[in-house]
Amino acid sequence: MAVQLESNFLERVYTEQEIKLRTMIERLYAKSSYYREKLREAGISPGDIRYIEDLKGVPFTDKESLREAYPLRMMAVDEEEVVRIHSSSGTTGKPVIIPYTKHDVDTWAEMFVRCYEIVGVGKKDRVQVTPGYGLWTAGIGFQAGVERLGAMAIPTGPGNTEKQLEMMIDLKTTVLCATSSYALLLAEEIHRRGLRDKIHLKLGIFGSERWGEKMREKIEEYLGIESFDIYGLTEIYGPGIAIDCPAHQGMHFWSDYLLFEIIDPVTGKQLPIGEEGELVITTLTKEGMPLLRYRTHDITRIIPRPCPCGSPYPMIDRVLGRTDDMIKIKGVNIYPGQIDHVLRITPGCGSEYQIHLTREQGKDEMTVKVEGEEGCNLSAVGESLRKNIKIKIGIAVKVEMVPPGSLGRSEKKSKRVFDTRHM
Ligand code: ZN
Repeated sequence: MAVQLESNFLERVYTEQEIKLRTMIERLYAKSSYYREKLREAGISPGDIRYIEDLKGVPFTDKESLREAYPLRMMAVDEEEVVRIHSSSGTTGKPVIIPYTKHDVDTWAEMFVRCYEIVGVGKKDRVQVTPGYGLWTAGIGFQAGVERLGAMAIPTGPGNTEKQLEMMIDLKTTVLCATSSYALLLAEEIHRRGLRDKIHLKLGIFGSERWGEKMREKIEEYLGIESFDIYGLTEIYGPGIAIDCPAHQGMHFWSDYLLFEIIDPVTGKQLPIGEEGELVITTLTKEGMPLLRYRTHDITRIIPRPCPCGSPYPMIDRVLGRTDDMIKIKGVNIYPGQIDHVLRITPGCGSEYQIHLTREQGKDEMTVKVEGEEGCNLSAVGESLRKNIKIKIGIAVKVEMVPPGSLGRSEKKSKRVFDTRHM
């Protein structure tokens, strides 16, 4: 294997994955007309892919090709084997439809059970599931895992904060599953109403968007919990394919089901283990719609060492941003995650911020709008934030401090970047 490995730990993982990869490629060639055609066009026969580095020559699959295959052209089994579909909403054009077999549904629930177990959720826990149900994968994924584990699911779904709080208090919910912005909304509401002593939460599992340390600290403080990031995307089962653990050093991913590569988002080249780049996923056992080298557009890295928690599963780092969130300004590439980091080390800054990109007299300008913490001196905090961004990221920006709570909260994903340069 030519991929330079920094530890025996990953070498073992990769050897196991390569055995599954060969079987998976053969199955794709036999069952998926979509991939058979794609591989033939690239001049690849099944026997050519034996090692992870052989994937280098295999074309990527992106969301656009999934859209083009709408609704079921990428289905790789006979229809009688399909038990469910999910759909990922497209902001533009057609959505993407993902068919699941019984085996896929079971695998996903199994991955979710691992997620719950690794963070310490057990049969006696009561798990409030606030992500949405329906075509979207989130709610039902969390719920199927709870049921398989044998804990109690409280399937509130999203919204209706009054009902959420009533259930959380009366049923003594111990685990909260939510998007991080909805968790923040609930945490602030509980804090505002002084309900902290009435709730019984011990941990939170939050995901579906990149979120900063400041926001995490606030949610943990207001709810009195430990929180864990969960990762996933509808095209690859849904949430639950990777999760943070009590050591909080990265997110474990289920390497017996999924093969993760990191590539340079611009050149598409495989990057060495440990380097930051775009996560590309190949499913190893998925039947309904297996994916080969699916581009997630999420920026992370594979952590080249085992976790102190003792889990045999490798880790990726927390997601730093999206390739399409990458901001190019004054010749510098910036991810919103870097702004999060500077907010964390600047006292007085809140967790909520927006990045506004404008063009003034032919020059690009970046303004960072940030909520100050209760009672802070906004102009002094703004000045130290401006300096810290200059030192840490190397770019001169304008800073606009606003009072706490004045930037919108959302039940879904918060929009952070507003680019009006080309309007
Ligand atoms: Zn761990």
